[in-house]
Amino acid sequence: MTRPWGRLDDRAVAWLERLLTHDTTSRLSNLPVAELIADECRTLGIAVQLRPDATGRKANLIATLPAADGTTDGGIALSGHMDTVPVDGQEWTSDPYAPEVRDGRLQARGAADMKGFLALVTAALPRFAAARLAEPVHLAFTFDEELAARGAAQMIGDLAALGVRPRACIVGEPTSMRVITGHKSVTIVRIDVRGRSAHSSLPASGCNAVEYAARMCTAFRAITDGWRTEGPYDPDYGVPYSTGGIMTIDGGTARNIVPERCTVVLEFRTVPAVEPTDVVARLREEAAELTRQMQAEQPGTGIDVVVEDMVPTLATTQDSPATRAAIAYGGIPSDEHVTYGTDGGAFHAAGIETVICGPGDIAQAHGVDEYVEIRQLEACQDFLATMLDRLSVAH
Ligand SMILES: [Zn+2]
Repeated sequence: MTRPWGRLDDRAVAWLERLLTHDTTSRLSNLPVAELIADECRTLGIAVQLRPDATGRKANLIATLPAADGTTDGGIALSGHMDTVPVDGQEWTSDPYAPEVRDGRLQARGAADMKGFLALVTAALPRFAAARLAEPVHLAFTFDEELAARGAAQMIGDLAALGVRPRACIVGEPTSMRVITGHKSVTIVRIDVRGRSAHSSLPASGCNAVEYAARMCTAFRAITDGWRTEGPYDPDYGVPYSTGGIMTIDGGTARNIVPERCTVVLEFRTVPAVEPTDVVARLREEAAELTRQMQAEQPGTGIDVVVEDMVPTLATTQDSPATRAAIAYGGIPSDEHVTYGTDGGAFHAAGIETVICGPGDIAQAHGVDEYVEIRQLEACQDFLATMLDRLSVAH
């Protein structure tokens, strides 16, 4: 009988099973997984820190393996997120937290996105710790990536506080081991409209929050229509222009009351030529104009535009140190850009050269019966072995 785990070594199998058994959906704590990896670092004598968020329920993990000469500055960071999307409402054919290999595929929540990568990196740590490294290697593992990369936003401050300054970063999100240098920015904006309630027979005594919210929606649609018809275009993307839409709307209380409140949540994703803060500024201008009109109807009314989350663009060049390193370790060169945001955007915005390269396909990431092909995990295991080889000082 052939071994279902292919060429994956025993340590890799053990870490895959260990990490995938824990439910670290973003609404829960990621500490069970963070503590396991931190313990492994401590056992191996690797300096590791857990950097908690404000609630203390979640933490980023930062570890540094110094170069043979003791240097900790510069080096290569390996990054991944420890949270996963939920399985709510999904009909799985197996227990999502009981990893199972079937037909060359490892099935579990987080198998592709992205505990597979974290497990393989952790499994390789004893070899990295035993090697004489030409330059340092860092782990930068985050929480809450699936909540608009909030952990990565904190990670930038955590790295600075610890004086960790990698010269390149590889984020192991599923790219089928292609080296991806670009993704769009992702911004979530909430629009709060404060009107004035009144009996519906006396609309002039109130100010209709839902109607003004609708005008904001129309104004935003004009912006996104402009992106589609006039660009700017970026041919590296499958959808070669910025996109956006109204995602939720909530307003009004009853059929015979002029609505006092309405809240709209919109999302937009921009190509590098469109600055997300400029889009927010346009929305604020529109809100200011509509607020003037509302206040002419009733004092104390108005519209607030609140940025809830922003994942910056990733726009790394093909000849950056990160791109060259990932390709040298066996990542597949690619000039395709992706539409999903990652922690890489925050690293890029902080001036750290970053690429995305990891096992599995994003198409299998968030759905029912998430899986990663064993062959992809083998390729990632080989990538880490080549990385270690390249970084090892010749004896
Ligand atoms: Zn992910």
